[in-house]
Amino acid sequence: MLYQIYPRSFADANRDGIGDLTGAAEHLEYVASLGVDGIWLSPFFPSPMRDFGYDVSDYRGVDPIFGSLADFDGLLVRAHALGLKVIIDQVWSYTSLDHPWFAESRASRGNARADWYVWADARVDGSPPSNWRSWMGGPAWTWEPRRRQYYLHNFLPEMPDLNFHCPAVQEAILDVARFWLERGVDGFRLDTSNFYFHSRGLEDNPAQKGDYPAQMQRNVYNICQPENLVFLERVRTVLDGYRERMTVAEISSASSLERMVEYTCGTGRLHTAYSFLLLGERFDPAFISELMRPWQDKATGGSRSWPTWAFSNHDTVRVATRWAGPNADPARCQQLIALLACLRGTIVLYQGEELGLPESEIPLEQLQDPYGKANWPLNKGRDGCRTPMPWRAGAHAGGFTSGTPWLAFEARHRALAVDVQEARSDSTLNFTRRVLAHRRQHPELRLGSFEPLVADHDLLVAWRRLDGDASLVAFNLGPSRRTHDLPSRPGAAASSIAVGEAAIDGHRLVLGAWSGLIISERP
Ligand code: BGC
Repeated sequence: MLYQIYPRSFADANRDGIGDLTGAAEHLEYVASLGVDGIWLSPFFPSPMRDFGYDVSDYRGVDPIFGSLADFDGLLVRAHALGLKVIIDQVWSYTSLDHPWFAESRASRGNARADWYVWADARVDGSPPSNWRSWMGGPAWTWEPRRRQYYLHNFLPEMPDLNFHCPAVQEAILDVARFWLERGVDGFRLDTSNFYFHSRGLEDNPAQKGDYPAQMQRNVYNICQPENLVFLERVRTVLDGYRERMTVAEISSASSLERMVEYTCGTGRLHTAYSFLLLGERFDPAFISELMRPWQDKATGGSRSWPTWAFSNHDTVRVATRWAGPNADPARCQQLIALLACLRGTIVLYQGEELGLPESEIPLEQLQDPYGKANWPLNKGRDGCRTPMPWRAGAHAGGFTSGTPWLAFEARHRALAVDVQEARSDSTLNFTRRVLAHRRQHPELRLGSFEPLVADHDLLVAWRRLDGDASLVAFNLGPSRRTHDLPSRPGAAASSIAVGEAAIDGHRLVLGAWSGLIISERP
């Protein structure tokens, strides 16, 4: 169980309006109190912040707005003292335009780093070498007059893609990994881990229907290349040189589920991977049940693969708004946390999810996210899930900063602040603690088989079993009351967690609208 900290918006200790590492370190006791195993810390490296830190200009440092390397070391010590692992983001697919590697590479075709990025000549008519599209909109190629060539960028033009076909690039990146492992981090979240390689042939991607340019083609040649797996195995070998380190890969692809299985299969690849499958619009029981399937399938190569699931993160509309509507009440938010806690795999909570925060509304003139600016109003971008964490209801900017927050504090978050919820036993915060403790006490919820009894449009009922232990998990994700007769019922000495109107009457499960029940046979 991980808790994602987006440091920019978590806690600001130096009062400049931007969250920092010291602020994060000061709030780790709170994180530990949730009952998670560790944190995933989004990027804090030197960066011109065009993509808020995902555009790294120095892989081995800390951006001054977040603090210093000494502050990072301090955070690490504090986290470890609290029993929390620290997983840091590694963004290897591309660097910032300001990275010295790119400055050198772009200068000429003959320098020592000339092939560290993906350079290609124009077509005879001057157009880019392939039809590939950037995820931020527009072509994935930008012209560089110094070399009279185009360079590839799957995201912003300010984020040129590294050329992983170049052996020296692979070595440099693996050295970066060693740098942080030596410093004592417990692992990495690998950003866009299926984007490292492109096809050397630069073939055009086939067209398909979609809302955004990058979705209007099947991304056959720019991502998910076979060489990627070989490199990931090298990453694993580096990690295996250290004790108890792990990787959680981010995968974004039309075949995300297959890639998650493939990238985590056996003991020589990555430990676990997540994708956007549960970070989007769809969350009906039939779909969730489908997603649980591959992990117990022997077809994954003999040794199991291992998924990670998240309902919210810094890249998507907060789950309370996305799945429970603009006025989600605490019960709906609690149901979603209970559901997440019942999934087989590793789970990640995003800062504020434990409070049931709704998405913030950011007017166009205050928009910061380049993705939002490029796609507004079709997509308003990701600022709405990145507003400051509400710590104290009565404080300026919710206690996030005493300065001016970089992104406006959402007034609706005041009533949901940590101090308000600490004081109420029925709050979403305290519910989260109870449900995570239950997941910890009942390993079948984390590791066990997922045996669905019903998975239709609204109702999800499944047994989770591991060795002799079993939990029955049941959720009604719809507005109508549902009942279901069970072939067998949990033993009498069970311990349970319920959300809304949810009970078992003999063999009959009774689930009111938007309710949930976890019954674990062992008390
Ligand atoms: C990160 C995003 C970022 C994108 C491009 C993603 O994987 O999670 O926040 O915008 O990579 O850098």
